Amino acid sequence: MQTRILLSIVLVAALACACVTNPVTGKRQLVLISEQQEIAMGRQGAEEASAALGVYDHGGLGAYVNSVGQRLAAITERPSLPWSFQVVDDAAVNAFAFPGGAIFVTRGLVTHVNSEAELAAVIGHEIGHVTARHSVSQMSKQTLATAGLQLGMILRPKLRDLGQIGQVGLALLMLKYSRDDENQADELGLRYMQHVGYPERAMADVMRMLERVSGTSSGGRLPDWLSTHPSPESRLRRIRGEIGDRTVAGRLGIRHDVYLRKIDGMVYGADVRQGFFKGRTFYHPDMAFRIDFPAGWATSNTRPAVGAQSPNQDAVVMVAVAGGRSPADAAQTFFTQSGVQRGRSWRDDINGAPAVSREFAAAAGEVQISGLVAFVKHGNSVLRLLAYTATPRWSQYGSALEGSIGSFARLTDRRYLSVQPMRLKVTNVAGATSIDQFARRQPSPLDARELALINGVEETGALPGGQLAKTVVGDEVVAEIVRALQVK
Ligand SMILES: [Zn+2]
Repeated sequence: MQTRILLSIVLVAALACACVTNPVTGKRQLVLISEQQEIAMGRQGAEEASAALGVYDHGGLGAYVNSVGQRLAAITERPSLPWSFQVVDDAAVNAFAFPGGAIFVTRGLVTHVNSEAELAAVIGHEIGHVTARHSVSQMSKQTLATAGLQLGMILRPKLRDLGQIGQVGLALLMLKYSRDDENQADELGLRYMQHVGYPERAMADVMRMLERVSGTSSGGRLPDWLSTHPSPESRLRRIRGEIGDRTVAGRLGIRHDVYLRKIDGMVYGADVRQGFFKGRTFYHPDMAFRIDFPAGWATSNTRPAVGAQSPNQDAVVMVAVAGGRSPADAAQTFFTQSGVQRGRSWRDDINGAPAVSREFAAAAGEVQISGLVAFVKHGNSVLRLLAYTATPRWSQYGSALEGSIGSFARLTDRRYLSVQPMRLKVTNVAGATSIDQFARRQPSPLDARELALINGVEETGALPGGQLAKTVVGDEVVAEIVRALQVK
């Protein structure tokens, strides 16, 4: 839905073509989007992303990350943009920028970074994409090339309107920056961090960390950042060329201990309280429910919804919180949507939970779909369980869809209800300590390889004495669940 609004803004913008001077390069460039539109669009995208992923805060972490970002933003070519810097609750190691100055770093990135200077390097790079208006110019190019196509997309009603899997389906996030854009963002980031007083080598250190993360699947899912960015080795090589033998210390310093104190106690890896899969069963400890999805289907869990899609992507089951005071109320709202026709009533109870459920049919453009929707009273909220496929496929999928919705149940298993995520624990290292020694002294569900990675040292290397180091504490069972999530 959001995407469609975005695209209409782009199209409206296309009517008012203008060439502007790029704030960073000083070159004239074809940009169809005014700064005001850039800000409005970015804000919309950022709101959608933070709603889908959730904002993470712990102690004063949010304010701290924002202060690091604001200090950098203030010395750029576009200091008066409405800059904001937030940590989103995603275990993947990632960072992204929206036009207009909304910048996100993921929880996974924050737990993997080893100093304030390294965090500044990542944020500086993202700021570079904004100051050089990379997404704006990409959008302008793509608007020119695909305006017709997008118009078609806007006019066609989407399955999404019925609540398809809530992906962070943002047109802005889909934009691919060019290799040149990435190199420019690296250079700008380096310049900004140096200007405010961070040592340049933090940029190379953070690239090295990303390179190592890309070789493993630790700390979250495989990082998306790396799929849209040049390989970390080539960036590292370029940056080394850039920095050369210069060893500018920077008056602020690396700020390793300051940073580690700020992140002590943070959730590490997937937050199992927000839901996890074991086999084909999904457990949500915070919301206290469980549901089985059809075997072999691709699953996705975001804040607004958890769902599964058939391998052919032609059938969907999803669970989301519905508006409405009661199941009947929520069902009423659902069936007043235009194009949705009610079918026969299904069950009024799903494993003990009062429910209003019905088959339905709907037109989604040229496609006729058939489905089953159930509104279930669960605690103080009403959940919407939705399953559908193209009408001709109902005979193929119907029983799997009914089986999935019928498996919804209150979660009562104490083991799962009380599950706790792994957390970072920051500890003082008195003298130089090998990773193996450190792992023995600080029992952790993480192996030596991952402990070395999150501390930015080689597996065969040692932690320097006289400073803080990170370990991770938590239950071995949880560690296994989190590892299984990473493989998915
Ligand atoms: Zn980038």
